[in-house]
Amino acid sequence: MTYTLSLANDRPVPFIDLVPQFNAMSSEIMAAVEKVFTEQKFILGDEVTELEREIAEYCDARFAIGCNSGTDALIIALQALGIGEGDEVITTPFSFFATASSICRAGATPVFVDIDPVTFNLDPQAVEDAITPRTRAIMPVHLFGQCCDMESLWRIAQKHDLEIVEDACQAIGAEYQGRRAGVLGSVACFSFFPTKNLGGAGDGGMMTTDDPELAKRLKCLRVHGDVGQYEHIEVGMNSRLDALQAAVLRVKLRQLDTWSDLRQQNADRYGEKFREAGILETIVLPKIAPQRRHVFNQYCIRVRNGHRDGLMQQLKSRKIGCAVYYPKPLHLQQCFKSLGYRTGQFPESEAASRDILALPSYPELPTNDQSRIVDAVAGFCHELRATGHQRRAA
Ligand SMILES: *Cc1c(COP(=O)(O)O)cnc(C)c1O
Repeated sequence: MTYTLSLANDRPVPFIDLVPQFNAMSSEIMAAVEKVFTEQKFILGDEVTELEREIAEYCDARFAIGCNSGTDALIIALQALGIGEGDEVITTPFSFFATASSICRAGATPVFVDIDPVTFNLDPQAVEDAITPRTRAIMPVHLFGQCCDMESLWRIAQKHDLEIVEDACQAIGAEYQGRRAGVLGSVACFSFFPTKNLGGAGDGGMMTTDDPELAKRLKCLRVHGDVGQYEHIEVGMNSRLDALQAAVLRVKLRQLDTWSDLRQQNADRYGEKFREAGILETIVLPKIAPQRRHVFNQYCIRVRNGHRDGLMQQLKSRKIGCAVYYPKPLHLQQCFKSLGYRTGQFPESEAASRDILALPSYPELPTNDQSRIVDAVAGFCHELRATGHQRRAA
């Protein structure tokens, strides 16, 4: 009896487990894969066209154009808008690397501004303060699955005649004022990396827009700037979406809203349990800003007073998976040294990097696993209080 109990408690709790999702739909996925092999049409083609139609419909966008990754989507989007050499794009330093690297790859300069400490998203006032005559675009990142304060960004973009390129890589299905990520700027970029809310069997990406001219250019740029018959009107990329990816993604897209609901339920349950445990003086729960649908690609808490690494150690010792997104803000990355940023320049982003901790929140997270996570987090916080250490890290 005791033996089985301790065995059960020793079973690792993975940060993310993609196996149950596949198991639940393996026959459908394998049938879709088999169809592609039977037809032997592996690049673009009908599966991709159908996925593009379905994603466009899902986001309520007029056009969707598939490509090789979320990173490529961002690069192609910037190029299609004519943004490059000498242009500045304002974005957040608290994001995945590709947000900023895509701007460099397009030949432009990323200009970082600080974030709002509550949502971890771009601070619109900081955006406006950073505008120069060279600013061409704003790249808001809907971080962890929650849309940015678009109303303020729209006002700024309109006033200064700027494009908005949504980095919606973590936010498929997220909503702002009832409209989905994907239609909140000039163009939006999605990633189908396997751990995103809609994940493929490898790399994949998508761009959405309502602008027919832009859609045409995006489509052309993903295939070497080819307009057909080996006529190249500009130098594009080789960034096509595979039929296999599209076939898998089409099967999974039908479940996406169910999965988003499950992610929200996980988040609600964490919130209830942490509140019940009375530990909100040590951790800060994620906050959903007004008029949003948060799709929780990540469920991130803040650990106050420098105790994040201690909590991480505690979870690790109990074999509970967790992760830090992101441990080093982009303005402090070595590859951006030439941009001239320094430590202390973006205090909210730097504090977020020190405090943030992502807990398991994938849709199939077993209730038992979630209870173990909650117990471990609560145990750590109670211990801190008991020893009088909750104020600051020892
Ligand atoms: C995943 C991600 C990307 C890049 O997507 P890939 O498909 O991995 O290239 C870009 N931005 C953000 C915010 C992401 O989370």
